[in-house]
Amino acid sequence: MCARYGHLVVAEGIVVVGGGLAGLRTVEELRSAGYDGSLTLIGAETRPPYDRPPLSKQLMTGAVDDTTLRADLDSLGAVVRLGERAERLAAGSVHTTEAEYRFDRLVIATGAQPIALPGPGKQRFLRSIDEALALRDVLGRRRGLAIVGAGWIGAELATAAAARGCQVSVVEAASAPLAAAIGAEVGAVTIPWYEQAGVELLLGCPVESVQDGGLSLAGGGWLAADEIVTAVGVRPDVGWLGSSGIALDNGVAVDEQLRSSLPGVYAVGDCAAFWSRRFKRRLRTEHWDGALRAPAVLAANLLGGTENYDPVPYFWSEQFGRMMQYVGHHADADRLIWRGDPTEPRWAACWLAGERLVAVLTVNLPKDLTQGRRLIEAAAAVDADKLADPAVQLRSAALP
Ligand SMILES: Cc1cc2nc3c(=O)[nH]c(=O)nc-3n(C[C@H](O)[C@H](O)[C@H](O)COP(=O)(O)OP(=O)(O)OC[C@H]3O[C@@H](n4cnc5c(N)ncnc54)[C@H](O)[C@@H]3O)c2cc1C
Repeated sequence: MCARYGHLVVAEGIVVVGGGLAGLRTVEELRSAGYDGSLTLIGAETRPPYDRPPLSKQLMTGAVDDTTLRADLDSLGAVVRLGERAERLAAGSVHTTEAEYRFDRLVIATGAQPIALPGPGKQRFLRSIDEALALRDVLGRRRGLAIVGAGWIGAELATAAAARGCQVSVVEAASAPLAAAIGAEVGAVTIPWYEQAGVELLLGCPVESVQDGGLSLAGGGWLAADEIVTAVGVRPDVGWLGSSGIALDNGVAVDEQLRSSLPGVYAVGDCAAFWSRRFKRRLRTEHWDGALRAPAVLAANLLGGTENYDPVPYFWSEQFGRMMQYVGHHADADRLIWRGDPTEPRWAACWLAGERLVAVLTVNLPKDLTQGRRLIEAAAAVDADKLADPAVQLRSAALP
């Protein structure tokens, strides 16, 4: 256990860096797997672990004020060090802003940080609860808002801001919203949703810099705004690992068992780029579901197991009154099948690689999502005509 805080802390046992969902779940899973040894959780934020998805949804609309994940953190019997940032990883020890922690095994769960745009103007972000609460105040004052980026976060924030009566412009470099996540063809279906909500959507409009009072646009344009929110994506928070020699590849490179290139060092959640046997590539997902589920596999492996983490990635978004759900990974898809009319309230898009279903996006169709997930898990070949027919159950599209 910890000998003392101050310059040197001896915390042999398991040390988890990052007090988000993945870090907390790792501690929980270790305890439920029976680990009763020394366990330390180090988090840079001063708040105990909290949930992020509601920040752009229920918290932004005022339905909730607090998204703390568990009130009884003490019951986990872990040493919890909040407001403390890991700055360096050396052989067998982590150096933080406060102390040095020696470990037998280390879990890196430092998540991701929003990408900032160049320029001297004030940019807001939506990653932490404090940023979300500050933004909610801005919405309450009905300030004119420019959101840079029509990705998941930009779309959800635009939804909340428009509902609260703000004048909102969303500025997007690509030709359609969500283009990076689901491709421009499918993303384009969401374009009318912005207009229906009274949100101005500027597409094909790269922002050069953020200035006082507005955005400098490529080609010399200017968009005035009271407040600017940058929502152009995140980067894994791995800068502090620079001198450690750990292999990085768009995050901490880990194998199927979530082991990094350094002995006894593992990574999980948004900061981890894991090898996916299923999709035969390294994947780094920024999905709540991954941060929730991967820690069970990780805990087993920390305790001597050899379990593989091989999920079918899952993500959801609530925007403009619709529930969007995505399951799978479509990088290798060669065909897109529409299931239903995408101008209607309910539809799905299905991606095939050859005859195999590899990803499904549903809008207000949770049943299709569930059935699609099972087919993807089973690497099922499907009949494209049946898939395209919303009158046929999605699961019935599987070929015998
Ligand atoms: C506004 C918002 C809405 C979202 N909505 C959805 C959604 O609808 N559906 C969905 O699937 N996903 C959603 N997500 C994504 C989901 O919340 C993340 O995938 C999930 O939070 C990842 O958890 P994590 O623990 O890996 O990382 P994080 O939640 O980022 O936690 C990492 C923690 O580590 C800390 N940390 C970083 N560096 C250090 C360091 N050097 N030392 C100590 N601590 C450090 C950070 O401060 C942070 O507290 C949303 C995210 C946001 C921000």
